[in-house]
Amino acid sequence: MIHEILPVGPLQCNCSIIGDENTREAMVIDPGDDIEDVLAILRRHQLQVKQIVITHAHIDHVGGAMKLRAATGAAILLNENDYALLQMLDIQAQWIGMAAPGKVEIDASLGGSDRVTAGGLTADVMHTPGHTEGSICLYFPAEKKLIAGDTLFAGSIGRTDLPGGSFPKILDSLHEKVLALPDDTVVIPGHGSSTTIGEERESNPFLVKR
Ligand SMILES: [Zn+2]
Repeated sequence: MIHEILPVGPLQCNCSIIGDENTREAMVIDPGDDIEDVLAILRRHQLQVKQIVITHAHIDHVGGAMKLRAATGAAILLNENDYALLQMLDIQAQWIGMAAPGKVEIDASLGGSDRVTAGGLTADVMHTPGHTEGSICLYFPAEKKLIAGDTLFAGSIGRTDLPGGSFPKILDSLHEKVLALPDDTVVIPGHGSSTTIGEERESNPFLVKR
């Protein structure tokens, strides 16, 4: 598995570029910004993007999706429960003082029983509402790797005070779905450094006791 993690934009959203070394097929997760840099990484590995996966419809995760689609022809996938939030990108841009990216068109919804693939690589989609209604995580079982979006961070969890956020729901998602994964699963959060499920189960103040 080729896996490059590139922090993009003013909020340094972790954009993941994941590719199959044999087929050179790839998926890009959360291309929030800096699409020229994303394209440079794709070129360096000679990868062809098959799909663009958005973990949730916050501007720092989705802002560059249309530019990447225009450059690659890949479909943009987002859980339908975040479509309403996607209509608020202009307002979101005002919150953080960013230029509005314009309208983002979604090609298909991703739900909790879906799988996304790139060549021989497969990820299970986990619907994990709480940070937003349509938040998803991507779990690669063969590689024991979780792309967590803004649901889980090293030592913290996603904020729930923005529209569509719910503290009880994010705790349910974390306890019932995310913490069901093996301890040695590597977690790549939407921002900041990587961690493991075991480490967070052990020491994350939001997760140790319920
Ligand atoms: Zn977010």
